Amino acid sequence: MKKIEKHDQDVIRLHNKQMILEIIKKSRPISRAEITKITKLSPTSVGRIVGELCEQGLVRETALTSVGVGRKAIMLDIDPQAVYTIGVDIGKKAIKFGVMEFSGELLHEERVEHVALQTTHEATAAVISETINLIIANKNLDKSKIIGIGIGVPGVIDHERGIVQYSSTLGWRNIPLAQFIQDKLHILTVIDNDLKVKILAEYLLGSAQGSRKTALIELGTGVGSSLIIDGDIFRGGSNSAGELGHTTLDPNGNMCECGKRGCLQTYIDESAILHEANRIKETADIQQLFAAAQNEENWAQDIISRTSLYIGITINNIVCMYNPDAVILCGDLVENYSEIVPLIEEQCGQVVWEPFRDTFKILTSELKSKSIVVGAAMLVMNNYVDKS
Ligand SMILES: [Zn+2]
Repeated sequence: MKKIEKHDQDVIRLHNKQMILEIIKKSRPISRAEITKITKLSPTSVGRIVGELCEQGLVRETALTSVGVGRKAIMLDIDPQAVYTIGVDIGKKAIKFGVMEFSGELLHEERVEHVALQTTHEATAAVISETINLIIANKNLDKSKIIGIGIGVPGVIDHERGIVQYSSTLGWRNIPLAQFIQDKLHILTVIDNDLKVKILAEYLLGSAQGSRKTALIELGTGVGSSLIIDGDIFRGGSNSAGELGHTTLDPNGNMCECGKRGCLQTYIDESAILHEANRIKETADIQQLFAAAQNEENWAQDIISRTSLYIGITINNIVCMYNPDAVILCGDLVENYSEIVPLIEEQCGQVVWEPFRDTFKILTSELKSKSIVVGAAMLVMNNYVDKS
């Protein structure tokens, strides 16, 4: 019985410490008195926790600041260089890296052209660890301050065991990626699905800040989604929740790469749109299609409008299922051709079921191409309070 009480106290203490650290991060600089007011904790508790954070080197006292007539308070700020994390984004054609400061700012970014599908997973892991070693050396980073590496990977990811179960983009099956990198660099390494990492980034530092229930829809070479509820990523039973691309739209529809007919992605992913366009006119890429639409060519406008309709229907399905307060549209299609966003919004006005029409905002990604690097770095940085 006593053991349980002790455990509960530890949990509360850690929670309060995380809360105070978050407040200092958000409202820096801030005084102890203000923290006491916001948290409703006793001044003694706040003082003790702040003392611990200062001792750990995460928080420091700054110069006296005037807080009213004749009154001065010692302000608290985080030390941005107290700890670092490294975020990695393994994409189809390149691997991106970012060094994140304790404040959440990216200190340094790097991109290495690399097609994982054309090589072995060992070679890809070697590129990742060698690049990180180079960044540490070139940027003169104190390795002991790097609390972890986070990696965003497209595919089905066992985030608890650090295993890439299946990734068609990378051509991997059952690869213990986290352990691989950790053994090479001796830095804690975690991995997660790219869209789950992306929504975490937008929720913490991007366009979904302040949203309580957010859905993200990725539109580009693939179609996928993720969901974050009150700060927790919704994972489903095997971390695969959100495989939107293979939801069935029409059982008699187009054949999908997965072997089923009428999957959503056979209507709205890049290859589906191009396939449709090429039935009318030779079209090498999406850019050509949008150029033709700009040129008032009816067939191109028609394809884009049909794509917007299907995306609107997808948004309706998601909104009816999860009732989010925000839907983030991201991926190459909406990020490179933002003119499609108002068309999608227009379709939503028609196809979203009426009770839901004004219950959510449509957002676009704020962090865009950086979002996976930022979210991956935040996998380790978010809620960090203890030096290990
Ligand atoms: Zn499919």
